[in-house]
Amino acid sequence: MSEILAIGSYTETDLAGLREMGARVVASLDEMRGLEEAERGDVRAVAYKGHHPFGAEEMALLPALGVIANYGVGHDAIDVEAAGAAGVRVTNTPEVLNDDVADLAVAMLLMQQRRMLQGDAHVRSGAWAGGESFPLNRKVSGRRAGIMGLGRIGRDIAERLAAFKMEIHYHSRSEKETPGWRYHADPVDLAGAVDYLVVALVGGPETENYVSREVIGALGTQGVLINISRGSTVDEAALLDALEAGRLGGAGLDVFEGEPKVNPRFRALETVVLQPHQGSGTRETRAAMGRLQRDNIAAFLAGRALPTPVN
Ligand code: NAP
Repeated sequence: MSEILAIGSYTETDLAGLREMGARVVASLDEMRGLEEAERGDVRAVAYKGHHPFGAEEMALLPALGVIANYGVGHDAIDVEAAGAAGVRVTNTPEVLNDDVADLAVAMLLMQQRRMLQGDAHVRSGAWAGGESFPLNRKVSGRRAGIMGLGRIGRDIAERLAAFKMEIHYHSRSEKETPGWRYHADPVDLAGAVDYLVVALVGGPETENYVSREVIGALGTQGVLINISRGSTVDEAALLDALEAGRLGGAGLDVFEGEPKVNPRFRALETVVLQPHQGSGTRETRAAMGRLQRDNIAAFLAGRALPTPVN
């Protein structure tokens, strides 16, 4: 058995890289649980790609475990506190995916406001050729944008929206150095001050329903919510109620509660753009994420400093 165990569904490129390091690959945590005790006992490093909880119980099944290298910057599936208590290091893949996630956030905003899905259907259906005019939609440039969570990705989104001549507002737990962007200590205040609210928070219990019914209410009938963070950061029931009642103008969502099963109420809404959690989903970025994941494992096994540690 190998001292590296890769868990998850990897691309051919990543599989080749992992196998070159001598990794054993299993598809899921369930498959890991089914390995012989002796096989599990050899594992010192796990490459993890998944959203199912990886907690104390799973770590206990791997007694020699020293590192969990997460594929992705969001490591909310891994119980970092339990890892610390068990002497297990956790790493993630920050920075390399910022551009793609920020691009998708902006794309969803443009798609929602310019009704590009409906425009595409208008051309394909022959309605345009048949002389039907396409209704006017909303101007994006020059509006007011709020970023909920001005971290690495949030900042890249703000910079893009600034290039669209937007006034940038943000909420974080503390004020940051910015090129004159407006800070709001209260998330509801932020939502009340902007046309568009883009959520770029970490996921996990501390930010659950951070975008609350009140925040959604403050965004208002013309407001648009974009979420590229995690489904858990938004009160989804409140979001659906507001969209259905026309109390919120629209939404662009890449992440959902209970994904990939998406609440069917979303499907009936014309005002939402829905994406299959593909923020970092380009070949280039996914390859860079895989490399960084493997670099962290290689560093751990060689006793070197971890390139991107979480704990
Ligand atoms: P980051 O640099 O760590 O920024 C995270 C932001 O979350 C910061 O603004 C931080 O606020 C805020 N935050 C953290 N803990 C909080 C708490 N307890 N209460 C309130 N705010 C809190 O992370 P990042 O690299 O930008 O990534 C952000 C998230 O995007 C990831 O965690 C992941 O869930 C998501 N993501 C999604 C995709 C996708 O495919 N859709 C891809 C990559 C990442 P402070 O500034 O106050 O610290």
